[in-house]
Amino acid sequence: MFFATTFVLVTALAWMGWQLVRQDRALAGQRLEERRENAADLAVAALQRHFSQLEGDLMRLSTAAAPQLREQASEYAAGLPEDSMLLIFRSNDLEGFPEHRLLFYPNISAAPAAWPRIFAAAEALEFQKQDYSKAVGALRPLARHTDPTVRAEAQARLGRNLWKSGQVAEALAAYDELARAGSTPVAGLPAELVAREARLLVFEKQKDGEAARREAAQLSSALRGGEWRINRAGYDFYLSEACRGMGLTSPEPAEALAASAAAEPMWEEWQALRRDESNIAGRRIFWHADRPVLLVWRGTPERLAVLALGRRYLESQWLEPLLPTLGRFDTRIALTDSDGRAVSGHLPNGSETQSVRLASSVQLPWTLHAVSVGGAATAGLAARRLIVTGLATLLLLVLAGTYFIGRAAAREVAVARLESDFVASVSHEFRTPITALRQLSELLASGRVESDEDRQEYYRALAQESERLHRLVEGLLTFGRLEAGAMPFRFEPLDAAEWLRSVVEEFQRDAGARGYRIEMLADGSPPRLRADRAALGCVIWNLLDNAVKYSPDCFTVWVELGRENRRVAIRVRDQGIGIPESEQKLIFRKFVRGAAAKTGGIRGAGVGLAMARQIANAHQGEIVVDSRPGEGSTFTVLLP
Ligand code: ADP
Repeated sequence: MFFATTFVLVTALAWMGWQLVRQDRALAGQRLEERRENAADLAVAALQRHFSQLEGDLMRLSTAAAPQLREQASEYAAGLPEDSMLLIFRSNDLEGFPEHRLLFYPNISAAPAAWPRIFAAAEALEFQKQDYSKAVGALRPLARHTDPTVRAEAQARLGRNLWKSGQVAEALAAYDELARAGSTPVAGLPAELVAREARLLVFEKQKDGEAARREAAQLSSALRGGEWRINRAGYDFYLSEACRGMGLTSPEPAEALAASAAAEPMWEEWQALRRDESNIAGRRIFWHADRPVLLVWRGTPERLAVLALGRRYLESQWLEPLLPTLGRFDTRIALTDSDGRAVSGHLPNGSETQSVRLASSVQLPWTLHAVSVGGAATAGLAARRLIVTGLATLLLLVLAGTYFIGRAAAREVAVARLESDFVASVSHEFRTPITALRQLSELLASGRVESDEDRQEYYRALAQESERLHRLVEGLLTFGRLEAGAMPFRFEPLDAAEWLRSVVEEFQRDAGARGYRIEMLADGSPPRLRADRAALGCVIWNLLDNAVKYSPDCFTVWVELGRENRRVAIRVRDQGIGIPESEQKLIFRKFVRGAAAKTGGIRGAGVGLAMARQIANAHQGEIVVDSRPGEGSTFTVLLP
């Protein structure tokens, strides 16, 4: 019943604990979700605020007075990170701010026709006669023409013909001169660009690797720095030339590349829109390779202000300032476009919980994902750990308590059984002498015993039985006093040999009648003791009585007095039934009787050895047993 109750209790406790943990987890998840929702709303509101501010700025720029426009635009764009720019579109032209950030222009067409008339003679000499020196002669005066465009075209042709006629140094000098013409168009391209590429080719043909690389590096950095107004095809071609010159397979994309690429579709869209719309505004994401560009525009058919904002702008201007707020809610955010591509942040993985704000519902160009940092599993973990630890401790306590109570109960039951055995044994012990006394006294009282001799014999028997009864009662009283701790010991100096002999002789008188003989051996000088004569006598008597009781077949018992490790040793040895190893420790406990003693019906109450040990202990001594079943036992009393 007890264990079953405990089991039910433990199960109920465990079940309750589990429920508690589950509820707590659900609650923590709910709290987490609320925080995430809050964070998402805050982030959306912040982003919307940013957008309306941007649109206000664009509105201002698109309606600014023409003379101040460039100044205002430059000022506005100065703070933009390198991957972002402001574009101003006007009917046939577009401009990027800050200056030189736009790498190529969508409104520049292919090269216009050359100058056939003025260069006709020189070209005939160069291509038909292949007389390059004469061509050089014809071109020299043109290179000093008043029209800078003619000058640049002539310089380019001069360089080419000088090179073809083998005058390398002069050719390079001519190209240098051409480079100084800067952005003057040569065959529709800036003169400096044409000159640099020509010099690169000359160095390559001359196999002057060092100079070629230097030239290529300059060309590349000028292209990436947005030095020239060229179109996309020109930019790509000359950049690949520069790369080849530097021995690279593909160029590192310029920071402003994605934003520049965005200008192209934006320009075309505007050209289409301005025909039939008066108020032009919008926002969207443009992708170039794996770089997203946020396009926001506002304007009229006359002028459009466009912001092309790269990831850096988004992160440094909008998202980073949001981090402290998000941190307070243990949330991070990620932005994705309509195709689910990540514009910023990491998309949540399967195990993370998120709150979503769809692009369509919040009027943003992205869908916003708010993700709980750490996830629901770890939310409120500390509290749950505490609950689990508390419950585990409680369970442990209940189990330990059950164990100890169980053990105590088992002991109690065992003691109760021993006590009832004891009562039965003692009653039996008493019954035998009392029956004898009654029968003898009845016999004597009836006067049926005629001879004096028989009468004497009966009286002796009466005395013997009363003596036995007396011993029994005395023994029990001594045991009772010892148990109560109220045994009055009277220690006195004792001659061990003399005292032991008297005890043995007294016992011999009792046992001799049953046919037993006690042999006493004492060696060396008689040791002296300080002891309670009567109590110690009781110990020896008990040991002798046991030796006789448990020796049904051997009628001799040996008593030895000697020394062992500076102690007095009194050994009582028999060749009786012996004691199994497993019982040797237990027999010194009160009420414990050996199995053989119980089954063999040998009289006894199981208190003799317990009493003997207590008396020996009171003398600062001890009793040890050495025994083998079937061979006999030796009990040794060791005294100081
Ligand atoms: P009991 O009244 O049963 O003899 P004891 O305390 O004197 O009680 O002894 C305890 C048990 O020890 C005995 O029941 C017996 O099994 C065992 N025992 C004691 N002395 C001997 C011995 N000399 N030979 C064999 N068994 C012994």
